[in-house]
Amino acid sequence: MALIVQKFGGSSVRDRERIFNVARIVANTHNAGNDVVVVVSAQGDTTDDLIAKAAEITHNPSAREMDMLLATGEQISIALLAMALNEIGCHATSLTGWQAGFRTNRAYTKARITRMETERITSELARNRVVVVAGFQGINKLDDITTLGRGGSDTSAVAIAAALHADRCQIYTDVEGVYTADPRKVRNARKLPEITFDEMLELASLGAQVLNNRSVELAKKYNVELEVLSSLNPMPGTLVKEVAKDMEGMLIKGVAKDTDVAVITIMNVPDEPGMSFKIFGMLAQKNINVDIILQSTGRDGKKDVIFTCSQGDAPVAMRALKESAKFNQVSCDNSYAKVSIVGAGMQSHSGVAASMFEALANNNINIHMISTSEIKISCIIDREEADRAVSAIHDSLFD
Ligand code: ADP
Ligand code: ASP
Ligand code: MG
Repeated sequence: MALIVQKFGGSSVRDRERIFNVARIVANTHNAGNDVVVVVSAQGDTTDDLIAKAAEITHNPSAREMDMLLATGEQISIALLAMALNEIGCHATSLTGWQAGFRTNRAYTKARITRMETERITSELARNRVVVVAGFQGINKLDDITTLGRGGSDTSAVAIAAALHADRCQIYTDVEGVYTADPRKVRNARKLPEITFDEMLELASLGAQVLNNRSVELAKKYNVELEVLSSLNPMPGTLVKEVAKDMEGMLIKGVAKDTDVAVITIMNVPDEPGMSFKIFGMLAQKNINVDIILQSTGRDGKKDVIFTCSQGDAPVAMRALKESAKFNQVSCDNSYAKVSIVGAGMQSHSGVAASMFEALANNNINIHMISTSEIKISCIIDREEADRAVSAIHDSLFD
């Protein structure tokens, strides 16, 4: 008998039919003699709809109240799935995040899991119940409900798998695995049988929505092997693990696009020691994740500093730069996107970057910023060109 964690995303529990489909997958796993913990997301677009509802009331909702609101989406799913399981003769108990023992820090809307108290889950499993847990949510020291950030149910599933030392952690979604690019956008994207944690972490962080990046971080930390597969087509998916089978000649594992990019420019910064520390130290204090940084060479004792961050963080960054740091020539532009290629194989091969730039050049797509690491190359381009860029790069690197 194994302990299996199965996570189902919003599209997998979208309506009555899909809920019963999930219930059958779970019941089959349980009937085969396994202990099963199921993690579910809110149905379909529920989370987006709840955000829109909040916006009808205020443009500046408190983060605490947002979490109170957003957590209701997952609560609907767990109750409905537990009912469906009971209906088909599989005894199930639903648990909210706090009942399931997710303790988090205080950071409303982007909380981190600090501890798992698994007693309630294990006692339900001991009663031979399937446990259906609300993803994406936990509780902080003030006993307030917190949420883990968009796509956070993946992280909930991995956290439970790690805490219970589960034998398997399956992430069921609406595509058949992890592909070399978003299969809904790139027609000849290929399914990867295996990918390493490091490559998946980069892909997820660079915009491949199929797994939340924090879930991959956690999976790597606790060595929880993940299987990404479809809830609609029963076939092997993609294994995400520490060491993946070497696929001969496959230098690049994927192409990703991220449109959540704000480019912030500070003009005429004094060209003197300590300026970068002043800017980025202050942004770090405000918990702002800065991605690519560019700096012009000095002229007449001045220079320009350009950096990217998420669009959600941009207003806070702008305010900090103008009000606290007293820079008066600061601007923010949201019309860009980041396209990236990822693959551990590129470290030992020259010419990969050139191929990517060539694909963009052949399609007349201008590159505004570039950043590289051992296993990825990213380019900032105009957002309206992003889908075309991903296809062009994919065609040139995979065909
Ligand atoms: P869920 O609701 O199950 O959490 P998501 O919508 O969060 O599902 O993630 C699945 C989606 O991720 C797919 O429908 C697909 O469009 C998108 N996606 C983006 N990049 C990739 C990729 N490289 N491989 C597979 N899917 C991807
Ligand atoms: N429902 C949340 C979201 O839409 C969490 C998740 O789906 O993983 O982001
Ligand atoms: Mg998701």
